[in-house]
Amino acid sequence: TYVVTDNCIACKYTDCVEVCPVDCFYEGENMLVIHPDECIDCGVCEPECPADAIRPDTEPDMEEWVEFNRKYSEMW
Ligand code: SF4
Repeated sequence: TYVVTDNCIACKYTDCVEVCPVDCFYEGENMLVIHPDECIDCGVCEPECPADAIRPDTEPDMEEWVEFNRKYSEMW
């Protein structure tokens, strides 16, 4: 899965939301998040993010971000 990280805070762009083929972006409190179970790992959103906030969970120490994204995508 891909996850949104804190570079997203205060970013006003939604290019990532528009390109996602499965519509798995959600609004968090002050940033967007990706539902980790709905993301199909296509990677299309990553280069669209001008803030470089979208990272694959295969990078080190991403477990907390995965849980953060899950929490806020299931909150509403
Ligand atoms: Fe959507 Fe693909 Fe990005 Fe996952 S990797 S959030 S499916 S665009």
